[in-house]
Amino acid sequence: MNIITELNPVINALRDTEKLDYIKKIIEVQQRINDLIDENQGLKKEKENLYQKLEVRNLLMFEQDAYWLRGKRDGLEGPYCPKCYGTDGKLVPLVKKGEDCPNCGYTRRKICL
Ligand SMILES: [Zn+2]
Repeated sequence: MNIITELNPVINALRDTEKLDYIKKIIEVQQRINDLIDENQGLKKEKENLYQKLEVRNLLMFEQDAYWLRGKRDGLEGPYCPKCYGTDGKLVPLVKKGEDCPNCGYTRRKICL
């Protein structure tokens, strides 16, 4: 029995006494509880997404005109496009020897090491 159906015995008892106003109120409250359960599930998903974004943000470092993820595998992973991350929060790997973004066209400066 879940939180919604838990009141069904009360509804059945009231039905026998023909107290329709009470039955309507209980059903109304059950619907509101159901809405709150849905909202709570949505908020939990949103919280999880924000935790994941925060975790990525804490692993990111900006160097040589690109973002790099540290702590993944051994050393750094990347480079990733700073424009795509800055505008959409997406980590888009730079292609063509780590110089160009295939998503937005950002081009990284040539770095002479
Ligand atoms: Zn980009």
